[in-house]
Amino acid sequence: MESNLLEEKKNNYIMSIYKNGIYYGISVCDLTTGDFKTTQIKEQNNFASLMDEISRYSPAEIVVNEMMYNSLEEISKIRERFSIYISMLEEQNFDSNYENFDIKYEIVDENEQKIDTTKDSLLCVTASNGLISYLRQTQKSNLDYIHKITLYSLTHYMNLDINARRNLEITEKLRDKSKKGTLLWVLDKTSTSMGGRLLRRWLNDPLIDVFRINERLEAVKELKEDIILRGDIVDSLKKVYDIERLAGKISYGSANARDLISLKNSAKQLPDIKQILEGVKSPLLNNLYKDLDTLEDIYKTIEESITDDPPISVKEGEIIKKGFNEEIDHLKEATVNGKNWVLDIETKEREQTGIKGLKVGFNKVFGYFIEVTKSNLSLVPERYIRKQTLANCERYVTEELKKVENEILGAEEKVVNLEYEAFCTIRDEIESQITRVQKTASIVSVLDVLASLATVAYEMNYTMPIVDNSGMIDIKEGRHPVIEKILPSGSFVENDTYLDKDTNRLAIITGPNMAGKSTYMRQVALITLMAQIGSFVPASYARIGVVDKIYTRVGASDDLSMGQSTFMVEMMEVASILKEATSNSLVILDEIGRGTSTYDGLSIAWAVAEYICDKEKCGAKTLFATHYHELTSLEEKLEGVKNYSIAVKEKGEDIVFLRKIVSGGTDESYGVHVAKLAGVPQVVTKRANEILKSLERKSILGNKAAEKENKKVAEGQLDLYNYKLAEIAHELDKVDLNELTPIDALNTLVNMKEKMK
Ligand code: ADP
Ligand code: MG
Repeated sequence: MESNLLEEKKNNYIMSIYKNGIYYGISVCDLTTGDFKTTQIKEQNNFASLMDEISRYSPAEIVVNEMMYNSLEEISKIRERFSIYISMLEEQNFDSNYENFDIKYEIVDENEQKIDTTKDSLLCVTASNGLISYLRQTQKSNLDYIHKITLYSLTHYMNLDINARRNLEITEKLRDKSKKGTLLWVLDKTSTSMGGRLLRRWLNDPLIDVFRINERLEAVKELKEDIILRGDIVDSLKKVYDIERLAGKISYGSANARDLISLKNSAKQLPDIKQILEGVKSPLLNNLYKDLDTLEDIYKTIEESITDDPPISVKEGEIIKKGFNEEIDHLKEATVNGKNWVLDIETKEREQTGIKGLKVGFNKVFGYFIEVTKSNLSLVPERYIRKQTLANCERYVTEELKKVENEILGAEEKVVNLEYEAFCTIRDEIESQITRVQKTASIVSVLDVLASLATVAYEMNYTMPIVDNSGMIDIKEGRHPVIEKILPSGSFVENDTYLDKDTNRLAIITGPNMAGKSTYMRQVALITLMAQIGSFVPASYARIGVVDKIYTRVGASDDLSMGQSTFMVEMMEVASILKEATSNSLVILDEIGRGTSTYDGLSIAWAVAEYICDKEKCGAKTLFATHYHELTSLEEKLEGVKNYSIAVKEKGEDIVFLRKIVSGGTDESYGVHVAKLAGVPQVVTKRANEILKSLERKSILGNKAAEKENKKVAEGQLDLYNYKLAEIAHELDKVDLNELTPIDALNTLVNMKEKMK
């Protein structure tokens, strides 16, 4: 709950997982905001979906039931992938009956409609009950502010698998988990922390509902075009604090007077915001306008009661404004008067005793005292009671002084207590209205995100995409949103893309290293994703048929730290893509098969391409970058495959990268050129060129063999064939002709024949 320790623009989630057979119920909660969501996974590939959900929220902690905890393989996969604290919670905490639970929360769907939880036993109820009982045990505090739990359906959002989230660097960089250089970094111009958190959530949950996407796009369009409207909104939002977390603190009982002042100052902006929104045209903005509760009563309550600059502590007074509470005012007066009484006593005692230097003082340990210097001790009257002896003076009290002291200190203590009580009453009063505050927070967050997207669209010259269910991705002059921002302005080269469900399903992209293949493919995925969160896109034109999932297998990212070989990880990712991608998915494959020997790799790449292209089996829209130019021959063989390459120009010994995607494949890899560009010593690159030439000569001589190999590849037998050849070669190598008898020779021959079958 401690906001100093939390990242402002990031939710802090705790998750519960309830496993039952092959199904899972999941709940997540951010205590600081009261955000509580739940879902259940009851479809195919359940564990993969579970992993996707974990990566959607990246919780700080997970509690699971016994069955989940004992699924060692699953638990260790989660631990490998995420560094999350996982613990087991006793089964009895996971009550499946909604009625048995004493916290009165409601389960609602995404349209805030109440869900009938009695109908069938919902795994999400069980998971939610588990999470709530864990929170109660650990937080030892009131959770009443969790009024509702939103049940979301996995089918309402685009499914971004973990690798896509990581590889596309949507909210954090692959390497150092930082925000800079991510899509979020480009799109985040939000003015409030809650807006920042919502934008992050939108990026993690792209929509698939065309209507909802267009609703957002229309709103962004209006804000982009109306510069004054946008400017006014942003100016007002800048003065709004994190109402969402303030609401959390108020409900949790940890809000202090300063928090209420922040709430007041934020509420002060609300009528302005409402006025600015008056007359907006797009339906989404208009709904925000209509639903915005300006919380004037709450503003008034705080304005009348809490001083403008209260201390951090709520137990030291100075909180309540004058005129709010009669008793407090009265007592405060008493303490002020009390100080005058003390002065009166001082004057009176000086006169009576004749001690000119007599003083009345105060310290925390002894309270009020009369101080007399050593030289005047003879004048001290009988009624003085000695309290303390110092080096050059004595301190006394009198009956009268004691009485006054009691009154003053009593009043001060009373004031502090009364102020605290009054403060708690005010806080409780606001607490009783907290759902209104939360709703306002959520409206302000949406407005903030829309304004942020509009600002970026305007500044970065994005266009509004056409989003529909056409199944095509048609982009003209598309750019990579992050790279274009990092490169010097104007130096990014735009590229077109055309994919559909028909003859342009699989684009094979060849081109030398460093040509821009990876950048190009990510750009297509990012533009699609941006369109589906309702953002404008970096292109001059874009028509995006919504995709249900985006998969990526990008680069040979090094997962060695996770204790698995890169190639194994690569194949696991490929496996999950092949199992899960549908004809509505977008798949990005970047150099798959690279992590093993050439023929192995080529065979795998080839077979994967064939499988994905097969409409019966998958048929996903796919961009496939490869350094195996052999794959370009698929264009002739399979319907739906198109070859592209990224152009380079040869300039004498050197090459120039044009960064332009063109039709047709290429079989030049320019590896040696790139090595030279990278500064590998000339002696080495020269020698590499010689070797290359000689290898190329050899491969021309061995043309017959190569042809035969190609045929085998086409038949999909290449890898097996090669394994056999390699084995036979190995055996031949071992044979010592000097020792070989005729019968041995015959046997060896038979063996070899056998192997080739
Ligand atoms: P490849 O995957 O073909 O090896 P990359 O996509 O990694 O190449 O691109 C290499 C570098 O080229 C990038 O880091 C980027 O700086 C630059 N680059 C890529 N595409 C473009 C482009 N369209 N315009 C300008 N520079 C680009
Ligand atoms: Mg690459």
